[in-house]
Amino acid sequence: MKIILKDVTLLNPEQKLNEKKDLLIEDGIISKVGGMTEEDYEKSTVYEFAGKYCVPGLFDMHVHLREPGREDEETIETGSNAAAAGGFTEIACMPNTTPDIDSAEIVRYIKEKSKDHLVEVYPIAAATKKRQGEAISPMFELYEAGAVGFSDDGVAIKTASVLKNALEYSKMFDVPIIEHCEDETLADGAMNEGITSTILGLPPLPSVSEDIIVIRDILMAEYTGGKVHIAHISTKKAVELVRWAKERNINVTAEVTPHHFTLTDESLKTYDTNFKMSPPLRSAEDVEAIIEGLKDGTIDCIASDHAPHSIEEKEMEFIYAPNGILGLETELGLAISELVHKKRITMEQLVEKLSINPRKILNLPVPKFKTGEKANLTIIDPDLIWTVDVSKFKSKSKNSPFDKKLLTGKAVAVINKRKMYYEDKFIDI
Ligand SMILES: [Zn+2]
Repeated sequence: MKIILKDVTLLNPEQKLNEKKDLLIEDGIISKVGGMTEEDYEKSTVYEFAGKYCVPGLFDMHVHLREPGREDEETIETGSNAAAAGGFTEIACMPNTTPDIDSAEIVRYIKEKSKDHLVEVYPIAAATKKRQGEAISPMFELYEAGAVGFSDDGVAIKTASVLKNALEYSKMFDVPIIEHCEDETLADGAMNEGITSTILGLPPLPSVSEDIIVIRDILMAEYTGGKVHIAHISTKKAVELVRWAKERNINVTAEVTPHHFTLTDESLKTYDTNFKMSPPLRSAEDVEAIIEGLKDGTIDCIASDHAPHSIEEKEMEFIYAPNGILGLETELGLAISELVHKKRITMEQLVEKLSINPRKILNLPVPKFKTGEKANLTIIDPDLIWTVDVSKFKSKSKNSPFDKKLLTGKAVAVINKRKMYYEDKFIDI
């Protein structure tokens, strides 16, 4: 089948490309970039995309799919549907499932389950057995089965000595340790420690709990030469530490979630558990430092930390409710509305953080707009104004603090693996 994406602006900073052109895709392969003939138009299904960007398929490197174990909250399929609806063609899923992704068998199970979907799923395996922090997981086996990174997400790797081991092993195949930075001896609070936690009387979680692990991990990355990726960075100090590490050429990268660059701990005044997450929402000063970090390149990527939870579980007293919110279907809209339209970052930087850098960190190829390449792309309308409606989400869960929020910017189509998601439908192309 032949399709033409007409009058689209091809944007790929890796190729130094920002140009309005037509793109011809034949059986899932890019067969022409510009230079269409009359015959091409006649023999193709033509999609008019004037005023829209075509970028390398978006990649979210921090997603919780809940399968195996909690298929009532999300499955590989529903999570992948949510990803496609949010503009993503590839995602990486975190290992804190039941059982944890700590065996080659589970890595293969996830890959097998996702193989026919438009969205490619890359498993991140547990860094330690059962994510208990005592002994490292069978990393080579996991890597051979298809794991692209290692993490004990949900918690930090428990001790410096186990982290040292994990970094030394993961270094052999150049795969990152993705760290949830939180010192467990300081992590029993329900919200950020500050004026708001005092007013609300909720048990506090100090920002230093994150900073301590960030500096531990940076020092260990320097010592071992291994690769550390800081997941969902949330404090001003942590951003400063990563900046310091990068100046010293230490092998460290970082990601931030949309909620950590858009919301502060003051949102918790409603006691709405849809604002409860780990790490918690921080202060306005932290948010500002994060946006600066995005701007100057200290923070490499934006990732959702998509964390589906059932309504019954979220509708609990604040201190007992589980952490986490949905992210896949609001991520791009929040990033364009809050960062691009407010002129904090450019569209090029957005593509770097949502498409190029996650793949570089995980050693995966970045899609190109070139004849002969597989079509793996996202079409973005930066000016589309829409209202978030969780009842229409493709995700199985509904826990989002952004319901009814007005956003500007949305993905209008994605293409990958000879499939297109367009106007709410998957089409074979
Ligand atoms: Zn985490």
